[in-house]
Amino acid sequence: MDSFDVTVIGSGPGGYVAAIRCAQLGFKTALIEKYNTLGGTCLNVGCIPSKALLDSSEHFYNAKTHFSEHGIELNDLKANLPQMIKRKAAVVKQTCDGVSFLMKKNKVTVITGHASFKNATIVSIKGADDKITEIETKHTIIATGSKPSVLPGITIDKKRIITSTEALELNEIPKHLIIIGGGVIGLELGSVYARLGAKVTVVEFLDSIIANMDRSLGKELQKVLTKEGFEFLLSHKVTSVKGGAKEVNVEAENSKGEKIKIKGDYCLVAVGRKPYTEELDLEKAGVQTDERGRIITDEHLQTNVPGIYAIGDVVKGAMLAHKASEEGVLAAEIIAGQQPHINYRLIPGVVYTWPEVASVGFTEEELKVGAVKYKTGSFPFKASGRARASMDTDGFVKVLADAATDEILGVHIIGPRAADIIAEAVVAMEYRASAEDIARMSHAHPTFTEAVKEACLAATDNRAIHI
Ligand code: FAD
Ligand code: NAD
Repeated sequence: MDSFDVTVIGSGPGGYVAAIRCAQLGFKTALIEKYNTLGGTCLNVGCIPSKALLDSSEHFYNAKTHFSEHGIELNDLKANLPQMIKRKAAVVKQTCDGVSFLMKKNKVTVITGHASFKNATIVSIKGADDKITEIETKHTIIATGSKPSVLPGITIDKKRIITSTEALELNEIPKHLIIIGGGVIGLELGSVYARLGAKVTVVEFLDSIIANMDRSLGKELQKVLTKEGFEFLLSHKVTSVKGGAKEVNVEAENSKGEKIKIKGDYCLVAVGRKPYTEELDLEKAGVQTDERGRIITDEHLQTNVPGIYAIGDVVKGAMLAHKASEEGVLAAEIIAGQQPHINYRLIPGVVYTWPEVASVGFTEEELKVGAVKYKTGSFPFKASGRARASMDTDGFVKVLADAATDEILGVHIIGPRAADIIAEAVVAMEYRASAEDIARMSHAHPTFTEAVKEACLAATDNRAIHI
């Protein structure tokens, strides 16, 4: 039986990063993945393919709506969805191949097959031919990720009633796409098809879209997406979805119990994701899960069984690729006897609509609940020269700072390239910068990042210059 210092189960951004860090630290490392390609949800059916389609659809939308104003005339503009899907597949392949290359480079042993525990130190792997291989391991990192949640009584037929996985592979542009859930997946994939011409209706149970972010962001995003043609039914709970050969019928009710019926040709169910531990035989190793199926870990990401760790979507916390990767590094370094730390409060969240939405730190609602005395500074992109030049004037930067110390407590952005801009806020907050610190730093002109400086100036005694 082969034996390893560390065995990582699952090759997503949690698992493959953990494997690389383990190898860097000198451990003999195995990475087990049940699919033939590495990269997990993120690279195969998540972050990367969705961003590839978002980019393609954004080009199309800009060509259709903005190019003539830029002085670019186009005739016979058409969206070629099969080509977009083909390009997306090529991007995914390149990215997954890149992970395989990194495994070779770092001398990580990749084993293809479904892993399960025989006991706390022996992992059994069932290959495609049902052949079982067993390996012995001193430490294990479980990084098996998550799968889409489903609603009770609603069957995903994968044809008309679909999850994000099928929505990344459609062979026609829906005429009317009904989306259950106004969260990240619903709005990103809804944007792809709305830009390509689909009517998109979002049915959301809560009274706001992207409700776990600062409320001001959902409000502004809803305004912009409504202009793009989205229809929103907030405070509506979906009660039934029935798929036919060519249509789908959705029923929902509002808080007063009033019912509505919507007819479309596709229904995307995007109501969250659940941890994936199927057929892992956790009980044979004695590993415990909580009431939501998440593997329970301590602050070192160790499970109740010494030597077995768990990271990423399969444990508590935000279901984000970069959170999974940070945890992969942390678990590897803990195994190596180091003392790493993750500041969970400063893991940024991003929604890749256009305008993009990005957020880090406390929301205004959280500060109110915590009775923290804070001040705010905002700057709208319509006052930014860079944003006017690129016709990206929707949105704003909002900075929340401690009323007494001026320390930045939260930064919430909706606007062009917010996903990239938020990195400045993360750095500032990691170093516990005050709003005035950022306000006094030179930001290149003209850039979108000047809006962060201006919002910090606004938070510092209302000193914004350009508004
Ligand atoms: P996963 O990526 O889910 O990987 C787990 C791997 O484990 C899988 O490959 C699985 O096959 C394998 N596995 C499971 N069980 C076994 C077993 N028993 N044996 C062997 N292998 C096993 N996050 C972002 O930060 N940014 C984004 O832009 C973003 N976009 C997304 C878009 C979509 C449509 C979706 C669905 C998700 C998106 N996410 C995004 C979330 C992100 O994909 C996840 O947070 C991330 O993939 C979690 O990483 P992970 O390593 O924990 O698990
Ligand atoms: P989500 O939690 O973001 O949103 C789900 C939404 O569905 C919620 O707003 C919820 O109130 C609503 N909902 C639940 N039941 C409902 C019902 N019966 N009727 C109407 N609405 C209902 O989940 P998601 O969009 O499925 O995304 C799953 C995970 O994937 C998220 O945790 C997210 O972090 C991750 N993800 C991240 C990115 C990114 O970082 N850009 C992109 C996609 C996915």
